[in-house]
Amino acid sequence: MFNRSDKFIEECGLIGIWNHPEAANLAYLGLYAQQHRGQEGAGVVALDNSKSKPLFSNHRGVGLVQDVFSNFDFQGRLPGKFAVGHVRYTTAGGHGVANVQPFYAEIASGELALAHNGNLINVRSLRRDLVSNGAILRTNSDTELFLHLMANQPATLPLLEQVIAALNKVKGAYSLIILFKDRMLAVRDPNGFRPLSLAKLGDGFAVASETCAFDLIGAEYIREIEPGEIVELMLDNEIKSYFPFKPVKASPCIFEYVYFARPDSFVFGRNVYPVRKNMGHELAREHPAQADIVIPVPDSGVPAAIGFAEESGIPLEMGLIRNHYVGRTFIEPKQSIRDFGVKIKLNANREVLEGKRVVVVDDSIVRGTTSRKLVKMLRAAGAAEVHMRISSPPTTDPCYYGIDTPEKNELIASSHSVTETAKYIGADSLAYLSIEGLYRAVGAKKCSMCDACFSGNYPVGTPAGDLKQEEMF
Ligand code: AMP
Repeated sequence: MFNRSDKFIEECGLIGIWNHPEAANLAYLGLYAQQHRGQEGAGVVALDNSKSKPLFSNHRGVGLVQDVFSNFDFQGRLPGKFAVGHVRYTTAGGHGVANVQPFYAEIASGELALAHNGNLINVRSLRRDLVSNGAILRTNSDTELFLHLMANQPATLPLLEQVIAALNKVKGAYSLIILFKDRMLAVRDPNGFRPLSLAKLGDGFAVASETCAFDLIGAEYIREIEPGEIVELMLDNEIKSYFPFKPVKASPCIFEYVYFARPDSFVFGRNVYPVRKNMGHELAREHPAQADIVIPVPDSGVPAAIGFAEESGIPLEMGLIRNHYVGRTFIEPKQSIRDFGVKIKLNANREVLEGKRVVVVDDSIVRGTTSRKLVKMLRAAGAAEVHMRISSPPTTDPCYYGIDTPEKNELIASSHSVTETAKYIGADSLAYLSIEGLYRAVGAKKCSMCDACFSGNYPVGTPAGDLKQEEMF
């Protein structure tokens, strides 16, 4: 049986700054813009190579970016023109600072700092092999494995080939930024599960999971790192590009468009906001409702609700008001906190709801906890009818490639029909966008992305296929 504790799920955001006098400070700002990608820990490693010996310094901590770096002296404590940063959230074990990235290590070919977004699926076999060869693993993060795999390569190999040989041993999802003393590598796995983009920043460059980070630091978007590509940034600002892996069909994550990315970001070559609005258009065409107002579940449901209102001609109102000083409730690790969190985050606005037939638009239903509470809240505030519309298909299967989702048996759609779910959440009607409608909204061909959470089709398999439970040490 595959159980939760085997899941090394991390949701993450990455930033790399190459050749800028305020590298660490900009990395911090880049993390700030990407806080939604992970709220449990943040860190920056900076490199100062202006002296005879390169100096790596790092600062990492548990909590939000602003807390980890409060009153922080960037120039004094993280000097240098090169930096890599990371925000993270993890569901399983290892919430302590030891698991906070970027990871820093010294191997035979020099020092390095590494930040990873995504999840590997052959963690068990890699850990078993590394430990039996004498590796001392200090965290339960899959990211640490990259360091060991690199350290195991012959130091006589050119650095880039060491990295390629190490990456050829891992399976799964990885967008990486690796900082060495004389170069920075930006890597996307051959399937390109997670996003990663490149921008011009002054004389140097920036790399980030999402382009909203570039907007904040004044970097100019150049392009995506391609699936299977390694981009190498050199000290003289030359850029090199390599495609060293066996090509496979790319499968970028469709859930980035549904929920995860910020709507003002470009991911996988498209701006998220119009894609989400299209989802609302499609949803209104597929599942119209007789109603007086459309209300979004803020913030994740807002663009799709705008689309639904446009398409249906039903006016959009703010029937739920969000307290912006509360983080994403789903991301709180404990069920008890999560339950409380919905109320703390959203309040029903009686003024617009009283006596109204309401269409509520949200991006997804996971366990059903949020929708159930919201429907109750809306009725208590006087809504006459509540029609729930979801701008993605039913979430039936967990993600093993870097989005935090609970186990299959906790996903309400894995065991309940739409009618049963509607009953559970207490809505007068419930409807989900079809997978075809979702692809139409994205403007991509069906099956051209990873849609495992909606289909159970895992492009590179699951951890269950790696090693059997009894073989685990
Ligand atoms: P639930 O209450 O478990 O059904 O969660 C549904 C809510 O969680 C929706 O409002 C979504 O916007 C949000 N959500 C969906 N996926 C995720 C995720 N991976 N991380 C955090 N929140 C999510």
